This record gives sequence, structure tokens and C-alpha cells, in this order.
Amino acid sequence: MFQVNDNYLKLPGSYLFSTIGKKVQAYSQANPDKTIIRLGIGDVTQPLVPAIIKAMHEAVEDMAHKETFHGYAPDLGYDFLRNAIANQDYKARGCQIEADEIFISDGAKCDCGNIQEIFAESSRIAVCDPVYPVYVDSNVMAGRTGEYDSASGTWSRVIYMPCTAENGFVPELPKETPDLIYLCIPNNPTGTTLTKEQLKVWVDYANRVGAVILYDAAYEAYISEKEVPHSIFEIEGARTCAIEFRSFSKNAGFTGVRLGFTVIPKDLKSGQVMVHSLWARRHGTKFNGAPYITQKAAMAVYSEEGKAQVQEQVAYYMRNARVIYDSLKDSGYEVYGGVNAPYIWLKTPKGMTSWDFFDYLLEKANVVGTPGSGFGPSGEGYFRLTAFGTYENTAAAIERIRGL
Ligand code: PLP
Repeated sequence: MFQVNDNYLKLPGSYLFSTIGKKVQAYSQANPDKTIIRLGIGDVTQPLVPAIIKAMHEAVEDMAHKETFHGYAPDLGYDFLRNAIANQDYKARGCQIEADEIFISDGAKCDCGNIQEIFAESSRIAVCDPVYPVYVDSNVMAGRTGEYDSASGTWSRVIYMPCTAENGFVPELPKETPDLIYLCIPNNPTGTTLTKEQLKVWVDYANRVGAVILYDAAYEAYISEKEVPHSIFEIEGARTCAIEFRSFSKNAGFTGVRLGFTVIPKDLKSGQVMVHSLWARRHGTKFNGAPYITQKAAMAVYSEEGKAQVQEQVAYYMRNARVIYDSLKDSGYEVYGGVNAPYIWLKTPKGMTSWDFFDYLLEKANVVGTPGSGFGPSGEGYFRLTAFGTYENTAAAIERIRGL
């Protein structure tokens, strides 16, 4: 009789957003006259900008003719896109990253979920707490996390690094030594960041103990403060200890188009083995290249016209972030994030649990957010609102919350 990978059976029952979905559905069915505003899931709401649409139309046209038709894309991505990324995202910021160190994929979720495959099963992982759930869950599937303690919501082999208001949401160096350190900067869910100086501490630490930093910069486009680095490769020493994940989902609205990339410097080695070679092998074996049309669409993000248009879109969402942040602060809430990230992280009032506050907002204001405890034990007592709604919905939701 066949057997399944029983690591999957260890995963706690329901995923955060499915629990939210069920609660919202039950409430809507019982209250069909209520209009619910969703500021929960981090999906974008604005359409693709004109420069991207134009590039996609042109690419579709290319596919219609024998001379310009494209079949399988190169496994690691088209050179036109890898060169644009290397020049504009990295070299222009003084980072020493070459085009052949960039791997184009269909999004950051796949890459940051799959990257653990190329490291030893015995690797110890360290994560910030609260954390984007993909990092831990993908390691659970690989049998790397030990046993689950449902009372605390933690795994026995995972090193948790609490990020709370008390430490300014800056993780402290762990007491036990990890092999893989996941850092998400700007952070989902807390919306907070690290300065160059703070990130340098992590780069030096990783080089000292021989760990790899898996740096998820999916929200890089939302950074507004000068001292916040846009890439870990802005930090000296990162080439020997870091891998970076990027996405076109949040800067260009590609959540439904799908495109991202991973940067692995050739200097990142275990003994004589380049991690870069392993990921190239893995990518070539399990991934057949991101679509031509999509990569052409991403090229538009690097054109002058496209750059200006996507910046405007980011500014649109950040106006929402400011409205949420300022209004809630003005109403007496303790609020964080929202300056370099499209997420606002607030302390639940009067010691309410995250789920109690979720129910309270759903029932009294018909607003949906995300309970902080869904992102890890240190998220208890916090709540996440996203700035990805429309401006009108965001303003209306905040008015409702202020009215409570
Ligand atoms: N990384 C973080 C921290 C995210 O919050 C998300 C999406 O919400 C992703 C990665 C996924 O990005 P993509 O849409 O490119 O798969």
C-alpha cells in the first residue's frame, strides 16, 4: 500500500486565510444586507498600468507569427529581463550582482517555499515571529521542523525570533545557531523594516556562524525612508551569505500574472559547492521557464514610462496606508508599519486577543482584517490591515472603525 509524506499530516489543520474566509462567509450568509470591506488578504486591487498592458499586447502579437513566436523560455529567464534587473535593481544601487546570478520564476512564493530543498535535511531554520507562513510550512513538508506544539503554536526544531513592539520589531540574534535564517524586509505582517546598520549585524552574524540569510524583499517597492536598504546586497559581505527573493506582484500588480526572481551570488558556497549551481540544477529540472508574454510585461516595469506608472500605483496604495495609520493613531490605537510597507500592524485594544478583535471588527464594523496570531505566537494581541484596497473602501473601512 502506498504511503503519503506524513510530514504533510503534521501541518496544523486550516490555513489562516481559509479560516478567515469561512468566518466571513458565515457572517455574510447570516447578514446579507451588510456590505463587508476586506482589508485582510494582501492582494492588489488596481489594474495593470498602461505600459504593461501595451507590452503584453505586443508580446501576444509576437506569439501570433512564425517569425516572432516563442516556445519554451530559457529555464533561468530571458537575458533581456535578467540584464534589466541586474542593471536597474542592483548595479544602479551599487550592488555587485550580475545577470547570470538572477533566476526568473513565476513568483516569490514558489521560490521562498522551494529554496529549502537545496539545503541539508538537518538544517536548523530561524524565523521571525510573527512570520509569513510559507517559510515554516515548506520546512514542515520537508520534515525539518520537529513536532508541533498546538498550545504555543510552535515547532520544536524551529528557532523563533520574536518581533514585538518591545524590541521595535527588530529580531535579536538567536542563542542557538541556525543554518538558514528567513528575513522578510519590509516585513509581512508587521510592516516594519531594518536599517542598513541593523541588517549589517545580520550579515556579519551569518558570515561568522556560516548561515544563509533567505531575504524576502517582496515589498521592496514600498520603501520610502533613505536609511532602509532595498536589497540585502547593499550590505557589504552579503554575497557570501545571502539569497534574495523579489516579486512583481506588489510593485506592478502581477499577483494574477505571476513573475518573480531569486538572486544567488556565485560567492555563496558550502565548501567548494556553489549554491548557485544547485538552484540552477533544481530550476532546470523542475521549472520550464516563465512565459515570454509575462517576461515582456515585466520589461515594461523597467521602461521610463512603466517605471513612472508603477510608482504612481505604489503611491496610491501608500496613500491608503497613511490614511489607515494616521486615522487609527488619531483614534488612540497603537499602530506600526505603513511607512515602508503596505501593511499596518496594530495592537488590539483593551487586551483583546487577535481573533476576538477580528470577530469584533467583522460584526461591529463589517471590516475584515487578519489576526496577528495567525502569523505566529508573538503576533497574538496584534492585527494586520492591508493598504491594497481601493482608496474609497479603505477610507470607508477606517471611518467605520473610528465610529466604534
Ligand atoms: N513573500 C511575501 C512576504 C509575501 O507576502 C508574498 C505575498 O503575499 C509573497 C512572497 C508572494 O509573492 P508572489 O506573488 O510573487 O508569489
